[in-house]
Amino acid sequence: MSKLMITDLQLKGKKVLVRVDFNVPMKDQKITDDNRIVQALPTIKYVIENGGKAILFSHLGRVKTEEDKAKASLAPVAKRLEELLGKKVLFVPQTRGAELEAAIANLKEGEVLMFENTRFEDINGKKESGNDPELGKYWASLGDVFVNDAFGTAHRAHASNAGISANIAQTAAGFLMEKELKFIGGAVDNPAHPFVAILGGAKVSDKIGVIENLLKKADKVIIGGGMAYTFFKAQGWNVGDSICELDKVELAKELLEKGKGKIVLPVDTVIAPEFSNEAPSKVVKSNEIPDGFQGLDVGPETLKLYAETVKGAKTVVWNGPVGVFEFSNFAKGTLALCEMLANLEGAITIVGGGDSASAAISLGYASKFTHISTGGGASLEYLEGKALPGVEAISNK
Ligand code: AMP
Repeated sequence: MSKLMITDLQLKGKKVLVRVDFNVPMKDQKITDDNRIVQALPTIKYVIENGGKAILFSHLGRVKTEEDKAKASLAPVAKRLEELLGKKVLFVPQTRGAELEAAIANLKEGEVLMFENTRFEDINGKKESGNDPELGKYWASLGDVFVNDAFGTAHRAHASNAGISANIAQTAAGFLMEKELKFIGGAVDNPAHPFVAILGGAKVSDKIGVIENLLKKADKVIIGGGMAYTFFKAQGWNVGDSICELDKVELAKELLEKGKGKIVLPVDTVIAPEFSNEAPSKVVKSNEIPDGFQGLDVGPETLKLYAETVKGAKTVVWNGPVGVFEFSNFAKGTLALCEMLANLEGAITIVGGGDSASAAISLGYASKFTHISTGGGASLEYLEGKALPGVEAISNK
């Protein structure tokens, strides 16, 4: 059943609650990547251009104690939003109460208000993260309609998404949510073939569901990064000191059997005697890793194999680095893969959040991918084929 979209709503004169995902990376109270704010702009602009009174809210980090609050205020985010929007954003440093209610009552058509980090409500008993019914009901009472644009939190039922939806007549998807559902959902449900999935990252255990689901949907599943060594072990190869989950070796064997002809593993690997950027490195065949060495990146032959595998693909989904990309000397594989996908012609290219999304953006390739997801955990769960509670709670048309 199709979901209600923001464009289906009558917004003029309405108090429009907008759940955004402004959980941006910060260092010393400074935003280090404002992508999530930028991505939310179309929805916010649409609300104000159509005469709505925008009431924005988001979580930011984890808030467990009173001391955490100082570091987790959304005030710097409201400031950045104001710059990006070119319009005043009235920031209310509360999550409930008289001051917030009065500010909302005074809000005029086309104005923007943002209230404090929803997770401030977690200090006295996880009200936000535990989807406390009273809190969802209270927040719902502050508005007339609800727009959920926070894909990054959609895999959790919290008071600020599912809780509000349960207590308000209409919940619609914002433009970012719509885009995420269209591209990630589209790739999982109805991909254009050939469909190639590329999965990297540290551990098999984090991605079992994704590998299993994508083995059903994709024509090829490329496995790289730390995960690959558990698959090497499953074939009886020596992995030296490489990251390897011994309790997942049996599972890797089963996946290799199920994914016969589909799973593509690295054929060579860059090894080093220690986990350090300065460590001397060399390239060996994947089944020739000596004791005392660990694999930290994919090698040049593997990159050629990746290029052959993605050639002619119509849909490509990439999640996770194929090496320890935090070390510049072992980031080459991930960078080359990113560049390869950015320049792939005729394919829908989707980056499924997290580290791979930051890599694509920081390398300046953002505009060369069809879609870069703003959701880490949410995009993984969506790629697993799971229903996301925040999405389920959006009204049906
Ligand atoms: P994930 O969060 O599961 O996507 O994993 C990302 C992490 O995987 C990054 O921090 C990478 O450094 C790490 N990673 C990728 N390849 C390797 C490897 N060969 N050995 C150890 N860690 C790796």
